[in-house]
Amino acid sequence: MSSVKVAVRVRPFNAREVSRECDGIIEMDGNTTIITNPKQINDNIKSFNFDYSYWSIEPSAPQFASQERVYQDIGVEMLDHAFQGYNVCIFAYGQTGAGKSYTMMGKAEHDQEGIIPRICRNLFQRVSNSNDIDAQISVEVSYMEIYCERVRDLLNPKNKSHLRVREHPLLGPYVEDLSKMAVTSYEDIRDLMDQGNKARTVAATNMNETSSRSHAVFTIIFAQKTCDPVSGVETEKVSKISLVDLAGSERADSTGAKGTRLKEGANINKSLTTLGKVISALAEVSSAPASKKKKKAEFIPYRDSVLTWLLRENLGGNSKTAMVAALSPADINYDETLSTLRYADRAKQIMCKAVVNEDANAKMIRELREEISRLRDLLKAEGVQVEEDGSVIYSNDRHKAQELRNNAMNQSCTEETVNANPAEPPSAKAAVHQLQVNEKIMAELNETWEEKLRKTDDIRRHRETVFAEMGIALKEDGATVGIFSPKKTPHLVNLNEDPSMSECLIYYIKEGITRVGSAEANIPQDIQLIGLHIYNEHCIFENREGVVMLFPNEGALCYVNGRSVCQPLVLTTGSRVILGKNHVFRFTHPEQAWEKRGRALDESAPSAESLDWQFAQVELLEKQGIDLKKEMEKRLENMEEQFRKEKEERKKEYEKERQNYEARIDALQKQVEEQSMTMSMYSSYTNTEELNTEDDIYVNPLFEGEVPWTERDYQLAATCFQKWRFHQFTSLRDDLWGNAVFLKEANAISVELKKKVQFQFTLVTDTMYSPLPSDLAPAVEDDEEVAPDGRPYPRTIVAVEVKDQKNGATHFWSIEKLR
Ligand code: ADP
Ligand code: MG
Repeated sequence: MSSVKVAVRVRPFNAREVSRECDGIIEMDGNTTIITNPKQINDNIKSFNFDYSYWSIEPSAPQFASQERVYQDIGVEMLDHAFQGYNVCIFAYGQTGAGKSYTMMGKAEHDQEGIIPRICRNLFQRVSNSNDIDAQISVEVSYMEIYCERVRDLLNPKNKSHLRVREHPLLGPYVEDLSKMAVTSYEDIRDLMDQGNKARTVAATNMNETSSRSHAVFTIIFAQKTCDPVSGVETEKVSKISLVDLAGSERADSTGAKGTRLKEGANINKSLTTLGKVISALAEVSSAPASKKKKKAEFIPYRDSVLTWLLRENLGGNSKTAMVAALSPADINYDETLSTLRYADRAKQIMCKAVVNEDANAKMIRELREEISRLRDLLKAEGVQVEEDGSVIYSNDRHKAQELRNNAMNQSCTEETVNANPAEPPSAKAAVHQLQVNEKIMAELNETWEEKLRKTDDIRRHRETVFAEMGIALKEDGATVGIFSPKKTPHLVNLNEDPSMSECLIYYIKEGITRVGSAEANIPQDIQLIGLHIYNEHCIFENREGVVMLFPNEGALCYVNGRSVCQPLVLTTGSRVILGKNHVFRFTHPEQAWEKRGRALDESAPSAESLDWQFAQVELLEKQGIDLKKEMEKRLENMEEQFRKEKEERKKEYEKERQNYEARIDALQKQVEEQSMTMSMYSSYTNTEELNTEDDIYVNPLFEGEVPWTERDYQLAATCFQKWRFHQFTSLRDDLWGNAVFLKEANAISVELKKKVQFQFTLVTDTMYSPLPSDLAPAVEDDEEVAPDGRPYPRTIVAVEVKDQKNGATHFWSIEKLR
């Protein structure tokens, strides 16, 4: 039993952190890492102990931990274990930009190579230095990417779609059809790493994905066969070395991911969160009392994600495992950095039980062979025969129908896992499937080294053809592969948000014409791109006597140094070229570059290194921003002009309408005044008993003038008036108008006191069937005429309806009560 080795490593401040004048929050003292909370004054320090704490902020400082140092501590130990025959795993954890890829892969410059290239180089060095000439060594390499829970083969372009993860009763979880490349030298591995990274970059650029969302798993299968010279007994030790660059650990929400991106995040985080759960569960197992260990170990959720399922053995199983947690030094990343430290702290507790994988292959072949013959017998009894080529013959009727169905379905079964329990009698169909899978594995295990090498070479050739079709250069002058600076030919080099993916694709602009477009174009395109806004025939580069011109096709999105290009344009070295939405390049013209350097023309000009993806994007936004601003200003002006015009028109209309209204109001007012004068005159009559008196001073002169009243008219008027008086309309009006102010006040008070009581006027009439309550009925005057029933003539009075909304009750008040 040994625990997982855990190292943390803090990288230098990046440009963004420097420009924001960030403070450092990480200190290291021996193996201890101390983090300071920038937001808290008291109790702001937390410290963690790890196997290694690497301080890599400033190369000139004495405590600086270089790539070599990290390799010497972790890489060498792990390589030792591999030679001993143990499974080995190193994985890098941390937020995007914290230095995972730098630690694992590093840069091409010799002293900046990461753990993976160093392990590979030293593996072959040790093999060649070995005194054991009898030992037969075989090294196979695979390189895959897990993106959204799907596995992509980075080395074999024939595996276009994602690969299936299967489980085999003997093999455990494995990726079906993942290519294993046979390699014989460090250079072979370096080429594979390089081409795998290129494939990853191409895929990421075409799909506009970022590598920070995917996990890269580089696997070396290292087998050593030795023959004891005395006894002649052959033994074989096999070690699987898994080197994992995990996706960025930042939470999906903090990256502002929405929609599909969020879903992607959730999916990737499914692997990452499951890894977290597995690590926590494993940490619990190791701290649990012996009696509970087994039970707890059963509930580790390896199966919940592709990553943990494939790395099952490396996490708390048969493996020597190390983890490097990458940290940013800056205060702005405090939360993420603290969470990374906690993660690493938990990983420390995991115990692994590595065993030397001695003769594992031989044992596996033996078991597989037994399993195959068991399945064959079983199927034979069922009347089913599986041929060498995998075809199935059914000799009894019951299976005939199934045969037809199976043929229709074709052979590739969609089940993800093979029956896990060999003791359980599988159905004929499952048995056929399992047999086919076993035969495939068996064939692979039995492949001779020569066959493997030939296969590897086939795949390499195919891969190189695919790169050539895309216009991606692999070799300079037919010799070396990888990142290089071509001598004379102008070229485009890709820029990527992820520095580890930047500048790994080189596209030559040869003498003459270089077409850029998609693979679907009718004319073959020299540079083939995929993605949003890439036209079948997108643009053309023309190189005539060292002068390179860009001819954009109509409507195709092409930007040079941030400006949209619609006309042919001469390119100068260092120019940033963006095609479509995602394809960002820097153009280099070696001859121009030399000239420039030779004359040291412009020292203030930015160096090639600073002309990165970020630079191109900022420039694009800026240039578009300026154009946008102009456009906006123009539009704003137009809008303001329109607004002014409309405002003027409205004002005129308004003025006209206002005058209209005023005229109408005047007329109405006049009318009202006349009417109210008439009314008040009538009202005055009510106070005088001498209505029919000739010398009534209140006789309306208007009426008098126009209508000379007869005796009968007066009689009629007097009767009407009498009736009207009984109905007291005038007093009703007076009651309403005179008391409106009290009513309003009562309502206002009610609102103010939140009484929920509403007051409103209502007319109530005293009739035989609805007599008024006594407190509302007005006193009967002595001289009042009384109806034959002894009641006064039906009277209508103004009362106040009081609605108590709280109790749902309605009361009637007299005006006096309201007052
Ligand atoms: P990640 O893979 O975690 O997203 P990278 O490894 O790509 O992050 O690192 C981001 C940037 O920081 C790169 O430009 C890389 O070169 C730089 N960097 C990271 N770690 C170090 C280090 N220890 N020393 C120097 N540069 C580093
Ligand atoms: Mg990375």
